[in-house]
Amino acid sequence: MENLKQAVLWEAAAEKKVQCKLCNWRCLIADGKLGQCCVRRNIDGTLYSLNYDKVCSANPDPIEKKPLFHFQPGTRSFSIATMGCNFRCEFCQNWQISQAAIENGQIDGEPIKPEQIVEGAVQSGCKSIAYTYTEPTIFMELCNDCGRLAKQRGLTNVFVSNGFMTREAIDFASDWLNGINVDLKAFSEDYYKQLCKARLQPVLDTISYIARHTNIWLEITTLLVPGENDSEEELKKLAGFIVTKAGPDVPWHISRFHPQYKYLDSVPTPLESLERAYDIGRAAGLHYVYLGNVPGAKSESTFCYKCGRTLIERIGYRIVANDIKDSRCPDCGTEIAGFEL
Ligand code: SF4
Repeated sequence: MENLKQAVLWEAAAEKKVQCKLCNWRCLIADGKLGQCCVRRNIDGTLYSLNYDKVCSANPDPIEKKPLFHFQPGTRSFSIATMGCNFRCEFCQNWQISQAAIENGQIDGEPIKPEQIVEGAVQSGCKSIAYTYTEPTIFMELCNDCGRLAKQRGLTNVFVSNGFMTREAIDFASDWLNGINVDLKAFSEDYYKQLCKARLQPVLDTISYIARHTNIWLEITTLLVPGENDSEEELKKLAGFIVTKAGPDVPWHISRFHPQYKYLDSVPTPLESLERAYDIGRAAGLHYVYLGNVPGAKSESTFCYKCGRTLIERIGYRIVANDIKDSRCPDCGTEIAGFEL
């Protein structure tokens, strides 16, 4: 008991039940039971986080690896995670840490204090802390304590998220959260239901809400799975949604899939599919479209959407040159959207 952290964003219900308001499952949890994520338990009518002091990953990463391409480019982000997730994606790249709590109740990690995490970030020359690798919503208590301390030390905070958090959770984090990459996995409820045991609409709502009602810098990633979400019709819907609900300045990262976890009977995304998606994104009016997991591709770099000049040249996660001056293209003066470019 003494190691457990009381959870944030829940309320008491009848018969010692509690309702969690962190993510859109809004689990109603009976006394002694766990939420869907398996890392929050109702103990005697109070909700506790089971993973608060169990940090399972801590690495200084390039911010480009999140991916965030328009957020403090060329800096490093101290990237942390705890075990657990509120989705069950069959192709999860980090399933060893995201699914262990669900599969066998395993929640391993080191009791690293928020002060130590923030100090580690400062000492390793990072400009930000990234809550990533697993879903940060389900370790919000640690994010909140780290995020506030990091802000005091002049660091920024970013999430890499599946976007299933509630509006209350976004508002709760908005005081210290500066940037987010939301995974928009597909544009069909069926895909979310079949492959992720989740729902699409709350993710769309999160994207719209962040773009329109917060100051959090937003980028979006879609993993292109052959035969599942790469049809022309679906890609047009994805791109159209981003342009109209988030805006043309929101970068869209289209990422190459490699068979993972339970989803092994597939092939990596063909380059032609990725290039077709890129063209669809640009044709829809998006200013910044990127291809991920395609090292050496031209589409890793940032171009001025007006005159076409190369602004940030990237090879993988490495920045070769950044010619943006005062957030503008040095040739035509077009404003380039982002956070501390
Ligand atoms: S974070 Fe989501 S899955 Fe976990 S208990 Fe809360 S509502 Fe349920």
